Amino acid sequence: MIIFNSVKSLENHLTDLQKQQKTIGFAPTMGALHMGHISLISIAKAQCDIVVSSIFVNPTQFNDLADLDKYPRTMDADIALLEKADCDILFAPEVNEIYSEEELNAKRNHKEDFSWTQGKTVDFGLLDKVMEGAHRPGHFNGVAQVVSKLFRIVNPNKAFFGQKDFQQLSIIKSMVKQLEMPIEIIACPIVREEDGLAMSSRNRRLSDEERKEVPSISKLLFFIKEIYKTHPINQLKEVVTNYYEKESLIHLEYFDIVDSETLQSITDFNNSKSAVACIAVKLKTVRLIDNVILY
Ligand code: AMP
Repeated sequence: MIIFNSVKSLENHLTDLQKQQKTIGFAPTMGALHMGHISLISIAKAQCDIVVSSIFVNPTQFNDLADLDKYPRTMDADIALLEKADCDILFAPEVNEIYSEEELNAKRNHKEDFSWTQGKTVDFGLLDKVMEGAHRPGHFNGVAQVVSKLFRIVNPNKAFFGQKDFQQLSIIKSMVKQLEMPIEIIACPIVREEDGLAMSSRNRRLSDEERKEVPSISKLLFFIKEIYKTHPINQLKEVVTNYYEKESLIHLEYFDIVDSETLQSITDFNNSKSAVACIAVKLKTVRLIDNVILY
């Protein structure tokens, strides 16, 4: 695997590969890699000639600076995992390779920067107003900002994202369409621990006691999937809210059943072609999300 820290050297290398008609697959990450990330590399390997991954803890998508500081950084172990997965190229830039001072100042002053649209109108409509967007102001602008920059640098044919971040996938598909980027976005299934917990870089920050409780998140989602055909939606929601009312370690931020396309809450399954149940919980210092596609 070749590791690049600078934009210029990566771009030069990729231009050579593109001249040789190689197809490029790209899987961006924030590091602290686990088998969920590695699954993206494997899926990309099966579909593209060259696989590029990136490790960049993106400051502009964190609305909570303590969360940014505490985000795990495990570069040596990450490199070993990527090597083992046969990843071809790793891009691991410093913050100032990606952001100008103006952009970082906007973030420091809690203003959203929209220069990443390069003069185009990008409007996510209601997609970024709900769930993660409602609970983490500015988060999806930061995601679109960094992903658009990385896409312009890497110029991939296909980019691979986990369905674990279901709303992020919708935002990125919408962004690519509105910016008219010729990149196919591939959604990859959620990889879980044996007890069902969705793998996440944040899981390693859970205490032993918390780790014992968090499998309830996916267990509830799977239970909802089992019973949704025979129960009204408000009762399904009560199952989850009632469960967490009795839980002291886990605070439920939201549980919703939404249309997979619009991400808006569903009141009647008959009105949606596909639906997904989404959850976010907060423990003492760790926030976790998960979802399951109902149909
Ligand atoms: P992150 O490093 O958390 O920004 O995630 C980088 C990419 O890995 C995103 O596309 C995530 O959706 C994906 N990802 C994270 N966890 C999982 C998982 N458990 N299963 C599948 N994909 C995942």
